[in-house]
Amino acid sequence: MNDISFRRFLVEGLEIENGFCLITGREAHHISRVLRMGRGDSMVLLDGKGGRFLAEIQSVSQENIKVQIKKPLGPVQPSPFEITLCQAVIKSASMDYLIQKTSELGVTRIFPFFSSRSVVHLKADRRQKKRHRWKEIAHNAAKQCNRDIPAEIGPPISFEQQLTSFENAPGLKVILWEKETSQDLKGLLQHYGPRVFTGIVGPEGGFTPEEVSNAQAAGFIPVSMGNRILRAETAALVLVAIVQYEWGDLQLP
Ligand code: SAH
Repeated sequence: MNDISFRRFLVEGLEIENGFCLITGREAHHISRVLRMGRGDSMVLLDGKGGRFLAEIQSVSQENIKVQIKKPLGPVQPSPFEITLCQAVIKSASMDYLIQKTSELGVTRIFPFFSSRSVVHLKADRRQKKRHRWKEIAHNAAKQCNRDIPAEIGPPISFEQQLTSFENAPGLKVILWEKETSQDLKGLLQHYGPRVFTGIVGPEGGFTPEEVSNAQAAGFIPVSMGNRILRAETAALVLVAIVQYEWGDLQLP
């Protein structure tokens, strides 16, 4: 049987001791109660950092599942390049959708930010909770779509902080701006060819011209995706899909 035919489980913080490890919490409940897997059943365990192991269930108890690591599996082919999405925080359901869909499409990381026309504002304590929830969505999307490393989710910070942290970042950097009139995405991607990609997508209220010029000063090229104004979540997933189509792995190897 091919390794891919086993169910895959992502266990963050996976600790292997003497060839065994314990699975606890929600994942354990899922394995034993929902899937009704038990002693002798095989699975592929992922550590969320690229490590993959073929494992077999040894025992199931109320609290945990003990599995024996049978063998490490080779790393899977990583995405041919990195896509970072800097995304303004948008309304809850749309943001969740965006994180799930761009994860499926293979975005490497999502860095959320707040800008001047953001409709959604979160107090410091809520930011941590939100980030936790977004990580969970990325984690579940990774499991569902057969991805070994979930998209990384950065802490939500201000747009200015975000720009500063990307000032010296390598690769092609773009900011999606519906008012841009001379540069479109297609031309840019065809001109540059595959390299590290960072894209910024704005909030429901869009960007101010000043924010766009600050982004330009940090090395981001303003680009248009045509005359139709897309919702932020549509813009983000179209952006990731297009970059993957032009440079990435939206095709068979
Ligand atoms: N409220 C704004 C639109 C915001 S759309 C207005 O009506 O003018 C949300 C975000 O999606 C924008 O900040 C931009 O980053 C991106 N976006 C939407 N449509 C776009 C387009 N046609 N070209 C480039 N970016 C677009």
